[in-house]
Amino acid sequence: MNLPKGHLSPSQLNTLDRCELQFKIFVVEGAKAPPDCALIVKSATHKSILEGDLKQKISSGLNMGETDIIELHRAELEQAVPKMNEDPNRTDDPVKIIDTETAYFSQIVKATEPWRKETRPVSVEQDVEGVIGGVPVKGRIDLIRDETTHNRLQDLKRVGQSPKAGMAEKSRQLATYAKLTGITDVGLVSIVENKAPKVVPDPGQIVNVSRIEAQYQKAAARIEWLMQTDNWMPVDVSDSRKDWICSKAYCGAWRADSKDWLTGRPIACPYGERAQTRISISDGNLIDKLNQSVLTQEK
Ligand code: SF4
Repeated sequence: MNLPKGHLSPSQLNTLDRCELQFKIFVVEGAKAPPDCALIVKSATHKSILEGDLKQKISSGLNMGETDIIELHRAELEQAVPKMNEDPNRTDDPVKIIDTETAYFSQIVKATEPWRKETRPVSVEQDVEGVIGGVPVKGRIDLIRDETTHNRLQDLKRVGQSPKAGMAEKSRQLATYAKLTGITDVGLVSIVENKAPKVVPDPGQIVNVSRIEAQYQKAAARIEWLMQTDNWMPVDVSDSRKDWICSKAYCGAWRADSKDWLTGRPIACPYGERAQTRISISDGNLIDKLNQSVLTQEK
């Protein structure tokens, strides 16, 4: 099996579903997108709550104090200032971002308190790997928690909107980890970024893992075919469920001056900012349009 990294992961499958070209640039060719302040802030939330508070609770049985969690979070952000400065889409000064985020995060710490207190963590940020449907798969589980009679897998997310009911059952990430660990009780804990943050815990549900094998088999076959034919498709902008992906916020290759953050190699996608023709896959002869668009841009 010819896979670019020797294995698949839920996030690779999500990238492939979003845009094949994005998959080619960032997974097959291994380019690294520039830092993104919004992701840095989310990562600091994850680290201070999961790797700080709940990790300590595994050994001590106690939660960290509020002030300690907030300080840990601020320290995470402060050490990321050089990265924030390299975010090409940054709209604020890092000092201002840190001050604003620290004030907001202190509300998150309060809002998450009931969930953090009742959580009995078994492990946090645990690497997991195995084979699903003959395909090697790797991933990292946010949290495994003790529910007295069994364990539950939980994913912690910071999101803009309240999740719809049943999201945990639909989550490819959780279904993957359920298949790899045999723990089929899964849940999502969402920190909703309202003016005052709201925490939507998930009581947990039993996930049906049977669908996940076919997803990995299909993705592996699709990737092998794409790598053989080099026929990677851009986002179909006529699909309103996907057109948002083709934007500076969601694609590190969208900007005309996009570079691999590690090597400085130009990685701008011809269908991003510099595209003269946007591609509508459902409309007309796609291949002709793609060829025409690339030729136009290369003139
Ligand atoms: S700019 Fe659009 S088409 Fe190109 S890789 Fe990014 S998401 Fe895909």
